[in-house]
Amino acid sequence: MIVVAIDGPAGSGKSTVAKALAERLGLEYLDTGAMYRAVTFAALRRGIDPSDQEPVARMVRDIELSVDQDQVIVDDVDATIEIRGPEVTRAVSLVAANPEVRTEMRRRQREWARSHGGGVMEGRDIGSAVFPDASLKAYLTARPAVRAQRRAQEVTDLDYETVAADLARRDALDSERQHDPLVTPEGAVVVDTSDRTVEEIVDDLVAHLEPHGE
Ligand code: C5P
Repeated sequence: MIVVAIDGPAGSGKSTVAKALAERLGLEYLDTGAMYRAVTFAALRRGIDPSDQEPVARMVRDIELSVDQDQVIVDDVDATIEIRGPEVTRAVSLVAANPEVRTEMRRRQREWARSHGGGVMEGRDIGSAVFPDASLKAYLTARPAVRAQRRAQEVTDLDYETVAADLARRDALDSERQHDPLVTPEGAVVVDTSDRTVEEIVDDLVAHLEPHGE
């Protein structure tokens, strides 16, 4: 089973690279950030304070999540658009800091890989916690201004300053949290995506994967 783990901060190019790599390798793709966003959406929708760990932990065990490339469904509600919105984006790192949420998501992510015969998975802790024995681990980075610029282009209703501040805040929360923080996984290929094309990066990663065979 081939599992490729792509980690890195927001705006580092994970989604673009992970999707292109999955296509090149003929593997399935999973956006694990969308799973944390979907849980956050569910908490907000039920009026649960995202930083209140116990009710969020209780909720997460029964929640029905369907996350694929085009659609995210949470308990029969289509949340594809809302999970990218500012409310969820601001609260998601609080939910992701909840250890019980992480345990449950990790379980579902491993299950996803088993049932899909492997895949390319992107997130913050895939190579460090979910699949430390992945066939290939990549850690993507980019200069902070480049990352903020990329996000500002995706989010049309917020100005650059707001997007840059939200991103810096989320980076700090994700890197400093106690459980499975964002780190460069041991043995990961580190790629600065600031000045490189998607194709170059994918070529580079495929070359790193090849010596492993299978
Ligand atoms: O990748 P994306 O920006 O959509 O991720 C949203 C948030 O989900 C991150 O800021 C982080 O708090 C959380 N996350 C995580 N572990 C993952 C993927 C995402 O904690 N594997």
